Amino acid sequence: MADLEIHNLTRTFPSGGGVFDISLTVESGEFLVLLGPSGCGKTTLLRLIAGLENPDSGEIKIGGANTTRRESIAMVFQNFALYPHMTVFQNIAFPLKLRHVAREETERRVKESSAKAGLTVDLRRYPRELSGGERQRVALARALVREPQIILMDEALASLDAQLRSSLRLELKTFQRRTGRTFVYVTHDQVEALALADRLVVMRNGRVEQAGRPQEIFDRPQSEFVAAFVGNPPMNFFIAERSPTGGSLAVDGIDFKIKPPDGCPAQIKLGIRPNDLHLDAGEGRVALEVVVESVEFSGATYIVYAKLGNTSIRAELPQCVDTGAHLTLFFDSARVHLFDPSTGRRIDTR
Ligand code: ATP
Repeated sequence: MADLEIHNLTRTFPSGGGVFDISLTVESGEFLVLLGPSGCGKTTLLRLIAGLENPDSGEIKIGGANTTRRESIAMVFQNFALYPHMTVFQNIAFPLKLRHVAREETERRVKESSAKAGLTVDLRRYPRELSGGERQRVALARALVREPQIILMDEALASLDAQLRSSLRLELKTFQRRTGRTFVYVTHDQVEALALADRLVVMRNGRVEQAGRPQEIFDRPQSEFVAAFVGNPPMNFFIAERSPTGGSLAVDGIDFKIKPPDGCPAQIKLGIRPNDLHLDAGEGRVALEVVVESVEFSGATYIVYAKLGNTSIRAELPQCVDTGAHLTLFFDSARVHLFDPSTGRRIDTR
């Protein structure tokens, strides 16, 4: 069942920013992530869904009904936006207070939503007395207290340190699975997006650039923009030309042994992810001779910056190599991405 249907939604600001002609469906129990660079319209879209902003045109259907009532939606803001002068109980109860819910009913629902959010602290404490993880649970409990079906989160983990972020990410996902709630989650962090999303919507300049499962977006980015934005370390891009014989693509005179697709322009953008470059020849892999310029240790792997002729190339390797070393890197031509340089769109070879 679709919990949320967005049809041709447009909201323009005098600045020229906003969102334009967005159509999306969010299924019940789905974790949808909106990903994109600063200013691409993620927050605007979230605010439109929350009813905090009105569209110029288009419609939003919640639970199948075209509605302006947003009782089934709760929003969790950046830094969780807890009221510092209120206790945990008062923070969680706040949405009920606004609705003049009776005291016993409030107590019951605060307890219930605290338990659902895994909050075990004394509810008489203040936000400043809590850890980041506990604050997140308070924010979730406050979002749950109205018993919404859809929870919207805007960069909710942005201000936390890396370790806390990753543990809270895991908790959030577990929480979503356990409660079956629908999530729409905004972030500009692609690592977070890939980790959390059942489905990922990559936005650019107020429009949807690509929507799909994280693996699908990573493996088959539909544009150079998506290819460059998703994946860390970022994809290598080269301008390739048809070799003099026309039978394969060459970068800076180096033959990549890739057959140009039918109707291929004279020049084409060619992308290879750093983790698709290997030290072993494998079966049928193409070889590239490079000279190592520098190496960074990333914890699990080594990021190797090298020169392929005059062109820079980045590889992610499982072992360290020496700076200045002459290496042969290998790649599978099936793992190469091709883009039309004039439109930035993917050119399919299959
Ligand atoms: P960030 O990741 O930086 O929060 P975002 O993707 O959430 O960015 P939005 O906040 O949705 O982007 O903004 C989209 C565009 O609309 C931006 O160009 C912004 O300047 C503009 N914008 C947003 N809100 C308003 C407003 N109330 N008035 C005028 N322009 C606005």
